[in-house]
Amino acid sequence: MSNVAPIPSSASHGFFQAKPKLENQFHEDSSYSRTLDFFLPTAIRQSTAGPLAQFGAKVLSPQFLLWLQNAEQQPPTLVLRNSFGSPRNELVTSEGWRCSQDFALREGLVASGYENAHGVHTRLVQFAKIHLFCGSSSSVTCPAAMQDGAAKLIRAQLRDPSLVLDGKTRAVLESAYKRLTSRDPSQAWTSGQWMTERPGGSDVSATETRAKLLSEAEIQRGSQAVATDGSPLGPWSVDGFKWFSSATDANMSVFLAKTAASDRVSLFFAPVRRNTDCDASLTEFNGVFPQRLKNKLGTKALPTAELELKGMRAYLLGKEGSGTKEISPVLNVTRVHNAIGSVGGLGRGLAISRAFARVRRALGSRLLTDVPAHVRGMAHQHVEYRGHNMMAFFVAYLLGITEQDEPSTKSLPLVASPSWTSHLLRLLTPVAKAMTALAAVDGLRFCMESLGGLGFLENEDVELNVAKVFRDANVLPIWEGTTDVMAADTVRVLKGRGAKEVLEALNGWTNSIIANEAASAGLDLKALSTEVKLVGEWIREKDVPELLYRGRELLERLNWIVTTSLLAADAARDGDAVAMEVARRWLARRDKSLAESLAVQPWEERARWDREIVCGEGAKVETRSSKM
Ligand SMILES: Cc1cc2nc3c(=O)[nH]c(=O)nc-3n(C[C@H](O)[C@H](O)[C@H](O)COP(=O)(O)OP(=O)(O)OC[C@H]3O[C@@H](n4cnc5c(N)ncnc54)[C@H](O)[C@@H]3O)c2cc1C
Repeated sequence: MSNVAPIPSSASHGFFQAKPKLENQFHEDSSYSRTLDFFLPTAIRQSTAGPLAQFGAKVLSPQFLLWLQNAEQQPPTLVLRNSFGSPRNELVTSEGWRCSQDFALREGLVASGYENAHGVHTRLVQFAKIHLFCGSSSSVTCPAAMQDGAAKLIRAQLRDPSLVLDGKTRAVLESAYKRLTSRDPSQAWTSGQWMTERPGGSDVSATETRAKLLSEAEIQRGSQAVATDGSPLGPWSVDGFKWFSSATDANMSVFLAKTAASDRVSLFFAPVRRNTDCDASLTEFNGVFPQRLKNKLGTKALPTAELELKGMRAYLLGKEGSGTKEISPVLNVTRVHNAIGSVGGLGRGLAISRAFARVRRALGSRLLTDVPAHVRGMAHQHVEYRGHNMMAFFVAYLLGITEQDEPSTKSLPLVASPSWTSHLLRLLTPVAKAMTALAAVDGLRFCMESLGGLGFLENEDVELNVAKVFRDANVLPIWEGTTDVMAADTVRVLKGRGAKEVLEALNGWTNSIIANEAASAGLDLKALSTEVKLVGEWIREKDVPELLYRGRELLERLNWIVTTSLLAADAARDGDAVAMEVARRWLARRDKSLAESLAVQPWEERARWDREIVCGEGAKVETRSSKM
């Protein structure tokens, strides 16, 4: 024992934790890499690796993190009155927010989805980029999602032979589409999507916003201002109140309103801003009056406002009274964005958790990566993440297939029959939206805890601020439809018109995976067939009220079937030991005998697998005999 008394700690002396280093997720996130390996053909995987790696570095660069910090610290504000009390109507956003948004546009986060550079894999490459972006994005991914949905909607309107568009309306929509898919921030448009009103967002039938078709004389008497792209304003005048508008700084919006001809909602499109009557170089809101900004738990940089619409000039899209149907292409796209946003956010949280575990010591001097109880919790979340990544990207893949001008008549990898694609997409979009969002919130709560007290702090080192990622993630199960609303949508698909074809597609697809791909992994997949049968029985035997009551169970079952099938197919691809273990753990959730065999596995063996799943350093894993 030394006689020298230890020096007590002080503000500048003693232990200081080394800063965890967050690595480029393109290289460090093995689940992300494996998911891309699984879905992308080798040539596309290779040709996109350089640009994606560069992008992964950019979103963690000091410049980008400064924007992120600035956007978070300077939330948007409204200026509603001047010093003398006269009305003003301005929304002010931070420089960080605007720069992040310009960056997203330049990088083609939406545009790339329409450039068709990779055929059926175009959407996968687009979403691979968005996945990397989510944790750094200041929530500009929200208007980007709605921009994407609006682009898809307007393209569909322009191409629909059953819609007779007059020359003026066609030109207006063509201009909007061009801007929605532009990479030039000075030209590009983002979009809002206004559905939620005070009576309810889940059920839009009580919409109170009203649209009135103006006569030619009324149009002549009104403002002669034009939209910011020079297009004339629409012939409808809209009054109402939108309770949640996330993209209040968007250039245009698609929204629901009722007309005199129908008590059902109709879909409208309008530029949010127009040139002022007095000076064509200045812009003002197009009959939009923000009332207040929402005070939110997360997504602080995002200008979410309540909007009064007074004389907003708009165009009707599609048929009057068919708004719910007409807006569905938008929702289908934004829900895929939500799913990718969920796994992207969770991926960032887990990366922070890994970075911390690589430098933080416990139990005397052991790194957290060497503490089995800690790694066990991390492994559980990594297994979740792997599965949800597969599901989210599968839905993105299906979306990309359905969007090809010449739909494939041949079988594609993973989708043996082309006729299954649209049915699977329709069925799995709400499932993926709901389940990835819940997984993100659960997983990110764990990630915060894994950093101890630091996890709960609003860290100055913004790239490590897992609390912010958690706060932001909590909206993911709510907007674009809550979990129960997704469940109700799924029931509608399975009990509505076309339900038979949807179930056949699910059956056919799962059986093809079991027979063609997963069997070669040496996994016993009987539980999958049993579960598909059980879902079929539920749909046949239970009525709609009971299925709605059991909606979350239905979502979980469908999610398990598809995710486990994908993981088994992934393991079969190259026999990778970790992929096999992940597939096994998902399988065990509904395979009782496998669960029992895993439960009696020696803990040290299980702990070694945990470490392999989390750290993937080729830690020596004993081979074992089991029922597989
Ligand atoms: C940050 C943020 C940004 C948003 N941005 C936008 C935006 O830009 N545009 C937009 O239109 N909306 C936006 N929203 C609104 C969001 O989409 C709605 O809040 C959401 O759809 C729920 O609607 P609601 O709030 O009216 O809740 P309600 O519809 O009243 O739902 C309340 C509860 O009832 C449950 N419920 C409702 N119907 C059913 C049912 N049939 N079966 C079972 N349970 C049911 C819901 O699950 C929920 O738990 C935003 C919300 C937030 C928080």
